[in-house]
Amino acid sequence: MDLSVVIPVYNEEESLPELTEWIAKACTGAGLSYEIIIIDDGSSDRSWQVTSGLSLRNKNIRGISFRRNYGKAAALHTGFSLAQGNVVITMDSDLQDSPDEIPELVRMIKEEGYDLVSGWKKKRYDPFIKRFTSRFYNFTARVFSGIKLHDFNCGLKAYRSEVVKSIEVYGEMHRYIPILAKEAGFRKIGEKVVEHRPRKYGTTKYGLDRFVKGYLDLLTIAFITRFGKSPMHLFGSLGTLMFIAGFLMAGFLGVRKLWYVSNNLRAPLVTDSPWFYISLTVMIIGTLLFLTGFLGELINRNSPVRNDYLIRERINA
Ligand code: UDP
Ligand code: MG
Repeated sequence: MDLSVVIPVYNEEESLPELTEWIAKACTGAGLSYEIIIIDDGSSDRSWQVTSGLSLRNKNIRGISFRRNYGKAAALHTGFSLAQGNVVITMDSDLQDSPDEIPELVRMIKEEGYDLVSGWKKKRYDPFIKRFTSRFYNFTARVFSGIKLHDFNCGLKAYRSEVVKSIEVYGEMHRYIPILAKEAGFRKIGEKVVEHRPRKYGTTKYGLDRFVKGYLDLLTIAFITRFGKSPMHLFGSLGTLMFIAGFLMAGFLGVRKLWYVSNNLRAPLVTDSPWFYISLTVMIIGTLLFLTGFLGELINRNSPVRNDYLIRERINA
């Protein structure tokens, strides 16, 4: 199969018929064999009923519905594990992304050899606050990751199938998939300017907390990609440094005391010096950092069950 289109859906009943029809038209028009994988992320509207209705008419539609809302990353992860196409495209279900971009994205993966092609919503139909913060995130993500993308979190992306089978998108990490891909060793990452459209039906599924969460996730990724496999490298070295600094200060106080005593001078109490308290604090913090490193290493040994999602129902999956 040429192509899998993975679509996370959370309360988008109005958009689905139009979206799936348009994708089908774009794919058949380009002569691509395809499947549409709909992941209903615990919708409380009729999204799932609509999906199963559509799947009766178009046998290329498959789907999974979660028992509750797990978030876009969970939906994508599950969609990725089901995908059978050589190329996998993700697309939002709110008709903000245009299925007409599909053939060109597929061509870039197949013929130009890209591992991942991210859409770039150069002209965006989103509120000002979102466009503004988005610039800031994209700038930081660029500097940190060294990937030259303008729009890390574009919902419309195309992947070589191998890429989505190798990365683990959990939590809210869907915002930084290109970084995960690069970390997994897929270095040919490109972008394509795509058409962005105003949301046609329904409302956005994210509130203002997206901005805080997005930034925290970036920090997590920064940490995980550098030290995730060996937290001891960060915490151990910081802890050791601090401990040594504290130890030197305490040592200095001790030596000074001995010097006074051996010269028969009246020695000040060690506890009179502020350095005594500073050295104590620094040594304690150093030890704590060291222990944190150890705990991190211990946790790493137990592969966590981050990706256990309860599935309610399936269609052709
Ligand atoms: N979505 C999802 N689970 C969620 C939130 C969103 O599957 O918990 C889907 C949603 O249905 C849409 C896509 O993720 O297809 C992007 O969401 P939205 O359009 O609300 O985000 P925005 O365009 O405002 O960034
Ligand atoms: Mg949207």
